[in-house]
Amino acid sequence: MNDKKNYGFTTTILHNDRQKGIEHGSLHKPIHTSVAFGYGDARQLASVFQGKEPGFRYGRQGNPTISALEDKVTKMEQGVGSICFATGMGAIGAVFQALLRAGDHMVSSSFLFGNTNSLWQTAAGQGVDVSFVDATDVANVEAALTPATRLVFVETIANPRTQVADLKRIGELCKARGILYVVDNTMTTPYLFRPKDVGAGLVVNALTKSIGGHGNALGGSLTDTGVYDWNQYPHIYENYKKAAPAQWGLAQIRAKGLRDFGASLAPEAAHHIAVGAETLALRMERTSSNALALARMLEADERVAAVYYPGLASHPQHGISGELFRSYGSLLSFELKDGIDCFDFLNRLKLAIPASNLGDTRTLIIPVAHTIFYEMGPARRASMGIAESLIRVSVGIEDEADLLDDFRTALAGC
Ligand SMILES: *Cc1c(COP(=O)(O)O)cnc(C)c1O
Repeated sequence: MNDKKNYGFTTTILHNDRQKGIEHGSLHKPIHTSVAFGYGDARQLASVFQGKEPGFRYGRQGNPTISALEDKVTKMEQGVGSICFATGMGAIGAVFQALLRAGDHMVSSSFLFGNTNSLWQTAAGQGVDVSFVDATDVANVEAALTPATRLVFVETIANPRTQVADLKRIGELCKARGILYVVDNTMTTPYLFRPKDVGAGLVVNALTKSIGGHGNALGGSLTDTGVYDWNQYPHIYENYKKAAPAQWGLAQIRAKGLRDFGASLAPEAAHHIAVGAETLALRMERTSSNALALARMLEADERVAAVYYPGLASHPQHGISGELFRSYGSLLSFELKDGIDCFDFLNRLKLAIPASNLGDTRTLIIPVAHTIFYEMGPARRASMGIAESLIRVSVGIEDEADLLDDFRTALAGC
């Protein structure tokens, strides 16, 4: 493979490991399970620990299998480096642990994955001031900024209501103010959208979802896109300023976020995710077209009160979604009309499975207010635009006709 050539998204993922001279010619990066690593001699051990030469120290901070996946994620996001974590929440938690201190302020979209919302409540309890804003309009983000604002955090297509953040203009605002812009790209994946293109400094991916793509491994990642100048960040410890400033953020996150808190990705999980990632582009094309067909069918059905999918012309951010994203992704949600029992409806589905994951090959469906958003209570749900009857669908790669037929039959019984 020619290192210099500018290969496409899938070619790059498929052939990236081989560029590093893979062990024994194995076409898959082997699963390394060793926790400790040997060196030429004791002096080399010391010099690896002191960061004077490359090498692995201890499995918690990284290993060859994980490092190969980190490199793949970096290529997908066209960043300068990535760190993998045990879960997507491990990655987002590391942003909090490594970069925020009591007295800091952050602005977050209020349309968030439920556990991220809960994490920011935890941060608030520890002295970080968090402003939740409607990030579909940059004006709300700008109005919330204070001199203590360290970062702005948004999702691309918010789970579960599919609001699309004002991604480009928030990027311009953060750049003008020297604020770190963190984008959770889980719902779009780097195949549909690269947050770097709108000025994100750090990109979150829950690898558990579409990148792994088969519901068989948990994982998360943070990618430094190289856009943010870490010289501007006030909380980088002297220890992590030894290399060029472009490395400071990841150096501190790897030590303070991964090493100290220990949410390390397992090598077996890294292998599953790497294999899954090979077909990311194919799956995203298929789930996006299935989701669009399903959204259109639901929107035309008289028993359905509302459908939320950025691919529908009725979606408030349909226009910018079309400009920013390659297609509209696998997440949609909808509300049934009053008086229809959503549990009866769910129980009539034969293919779509009631379960709480996203980005699986199989279509998964869940009543949001009764499950994943139950803990936060009705008031906070209402403020996040979550109706009590909201149903979330993670559309899979089933044959389109079978999928539509499953929903059509279940609706017919309402
Ligand atoms: C699932 C998800 C996460 C968390 O990922 P886990 O691997 O489940 O911890 C974070 N952000 C978004 C948008 C998600 O959908």
